[in-house]
Amino acid sequence: VSQDRLLELARAAHVRGWTWATSGNFSCRMPGGIAVTASGRDKGRLGPADLVLLDDGGLPLERNAPPASAEAPLHLAIYRLLPGAAAIAHTHSLASVVLSRRHAASGAVELAGYEMLKALSGVTTHEHSERVPIFANTQRPETLGEPLARALKEHPIHGFLVEGHGLYTWGRSFDEAGRHLEALEFLLECRLKESP
Ligand SMILES: [Zn+2]
Repeated sequence: VSQDRLLELARAAHVRGWTWATSGNFSCRMPGGIAVTASGRDKGRLGPADLVLLDDGGLPLERNAPPASAEAPLHLAIYRLLPGAAAIAHTHSLASVVLSRRHAASGAVELAGYEMLKALSGVTTHEHSERVPIFANTQRPETLGEPLARALKEHPIHGFLVEGHGLYTWGRSFDEAGRHLEALEFLLECRLKESP
């Protein structure tokens, strides 16, 4: 059932145009580890064979499994830092990529005054400023655990951007992860279309 929900989350992100050209990756907690999308798969045509089971150390739990997403180590780092997270969504949407470059120097995108902020768990009013931190891109994604740990100590956050790369968000359930993804993508799109 978890695998079905995970495939649903990934396909839904694809049809919205947030995972171009096989980009993006999605995962959920499983007993003994996580399920994560395999490397290089078209997110619009995912099936059960496109998911890989990894243990908490990132090793495959099944023989002959395809290679997991290269960003699986970052998913594992996020689960270690956020024990309540049940699922993680990572997209390469246009809004997240453009804004992560535009605001890289300030280290964050501020989202304030939008009614949609209330779709983020714990936010009860539009009079809220959501700080989405931006981390420098790297080909060693597991190293982003460090800046993420620092950001989590400063503010409650619902996601983060990687510069020139995309958005990571999560939830305590599939429903919450999907809602956070839709809300953040919507808010980032609003921000993109407004003046810098
Ligand atoms: Zn990525």
